[in-house]
Amino acid sequence: MSHKLYQSYKQRPDIAEHYDAICIGSGLGSLTAASLLARKGKKVLVCEKHTTPGGFTHVFTRNDYEWDVGLHYVGDMDRKGSLLRVVFEHITDKNLKWADMGEVYDKVVIKDKTYEYVKGLQNWKTRMKEYFPTEADARAIDKYVELLFEVNKTSKDFYTKKVLPDFMRIISSPFMNNGYDKFARQTTKQVLDSISDNEELKAVLSAQFGDYGMPPSKSSFVIHAAVALHYMNGGFYPVGGSEEIFNTIAPSILSAGGNILVGAGVKEILIENGTAKGVVMQDGKVIKSDIVISGAGVHITYKNLIPQESKPKIKHIDEALNMPQSFGHLSLYIGLKHTAEELNLPKANYWIYPNGTDHDKAIADFLEDYNNEFPVVYISFPAAKNPKFEEKYPGRSTIEIITVAKYDWFKEWETTKWKKRGEEYDILKEKLAQRLLEHLYIYEPQLRGKIDLYELSTPITTKHFCNYINGEIYGLDHPPERFTKEFLKPQTPIKNLFLTGQDIVTVGIGGALMSGVLTASAITKSNLINEIVKSSK
Ligand SMILES: Cc1cc2nc3c(=O)[nH]c(=O)nc-3n(C[C@H](O)[C@H](O)[C@H](O)COP(=O)(O)OP(=O)(O)OC[C@H]3O[C@@H](n4cnc5c(N)ncnc54)[C@H](O)[C@@H]3O)c2cc1C
Repeated sequence: MSHKLYQSYKQRPDIAEHYDAICIGSGLGSLTAASLLARKGKKVLVCEKHTTPGGFTHVFTRNDYEWDVGLHYVGDMDRKGSLLRVVFEHITDKNLKWADMGEVYDKVVIKDKTYEYVKGLQNWKTRMKEYFPTEADARAIDKYVELLFEVNKTSKDFYTKKVLPDFMRIISSPFMNNGYDKFARQTTKQVLDSISDNEELKAVLSAQFGDYGMPPSKSSFVIHAAVALHYMNGGFYPVGGSEEIFNTIAPSILSAGGNILVGAGVKEILIENGTAKGVVMQDGKVIKSDIVISGAGVHITYKNLIPQESKPKIKHIDEALNMPQSFGHLSLYIGLKHTAEELNLPKANYWIYPNGTDHDKAIADFLEDYNNEFPVVYISFPAAKNPKFEEKYPGRSTIEIITVAKYDWFKEWETTKWKKRGEEYDILKEKLAQRLLEHLYIYEPQLRGKIDLYELSTPITTKHFCNYINGEIYGLDHPPERFTKEFLKPQTPIKNLFLTGQDIVTVGIGGALMSGVLTASAITKSNLINEIVKSSK
């Protein structure tokens, strides 16, 4: 990563007296908002607590290996007119390239049977109908796809409403969102149960639930539909790795006179007379700005960053803080001294369900006791997806294995120092790591004996590096109630304080990207989506 793109706060870089806007956190939501404001001539300061910028798009290295932490595939990058692609091209000046994962992007394994998710709607439907050939199942598959599109069609109002001023929202409400609300209120399980009795089919259709972190009986159908459709035209991976997202957005922020600081934790938002005026850094330094944007997540912002005396101004603060957070995760980062080609690593991700078709029960059983079988084992092969991996790390490759975890399992070590958390913590991690590796060897047996190093992260690692209070994987959870919360939007009751990031839209690279567009639109009081689309033509 080019070190010229950001500076360390510790090294006392030049910080201006005043900025047009300050972004708290350097996740994709913040970076997108910052870039769009910079393109309007605004001088923006991005303050990131971690020593590497990018939020969950950052990468880390160890012994000549590199891993991404929160990006394994992104959909919707193939079509020229895709909104996500157009926005990415806009904020990166077309410098970010995407590598296609090929025909198969996800492999779902239910017990011993493997189902491939193939690229392209028709191909996907045809393949599913080959797996499930009865007439009733074929009808259910058609109906399922129809419903995904219905949700998609009605979702526009949901996003539009987030940027309308309050009075407009109230008068336009009766005319908007009805279709979307109907789907948002239903769980994924309710919708799937309404179209099929075949448990195996429903388990396959809901197999990507790990992408939004809630099993079928808990998640709103709208988040399921958004994710399923998002990937229907295949999976894509940033050429050069996920750090290229930061590397290609940052220049636009810097060239408008902005700064990006790492190791720059914000302690509090400076609020005077009900108006945000800047930020107070962890060391007490005050940096002033006209606008403050928090991309640190709703819980962190409302719990930690709003000064006590300003909290009563936010009427929905308790409701927001009572919203459930997603569960935590374990991630096993693996390094191998062979290339992806030599090891025959696939590009497709595995979604392994060792317990069978009941995702809800599997999750509940595991969260109750981690000695139970993993409810899902997700395996990603970044070295196979990234065409530049070999150039950067010759003769090497990497793999990541992810599953669910509870913060409480590791809570007793939360105050210990990273890397020095003690023997008991290391023993527990080793036990879990070995169990995860065994799942990898079942499906890729050639890898046994080939692993050079591995390191397991836990929810306290996530807290340490990305600051999420309970090390949650995806910020706020996605139950039906989430979609009724009108305060999940850029504007806040504090004048000139705005929110951005996954919590105000939905989880995912696409969700975070769009949150940044919505936040910049709310700040500039303009329809930036239209502007971006027009300028792309
Ligand atoms: C394991 C994992 C796998 C994932 N895989 C995918 C995938 O394959 N595809 C996909 O689309 N999405 C994926 N996601 C989701 C996606 O990465 C996130 O939804 C998205 O990146 C969140 O962006 P954000 O803008 O909300 O900010 P975040 O990335 O959450 O960043 C917030 C930043 O704010 C900083 N911060 C917090 N408090 C402060 C403070 N007080 N001062 C300064 N800085 C602060 C944090 O350190 C952090 O860097 C994955 C996520 C995880 C965790």
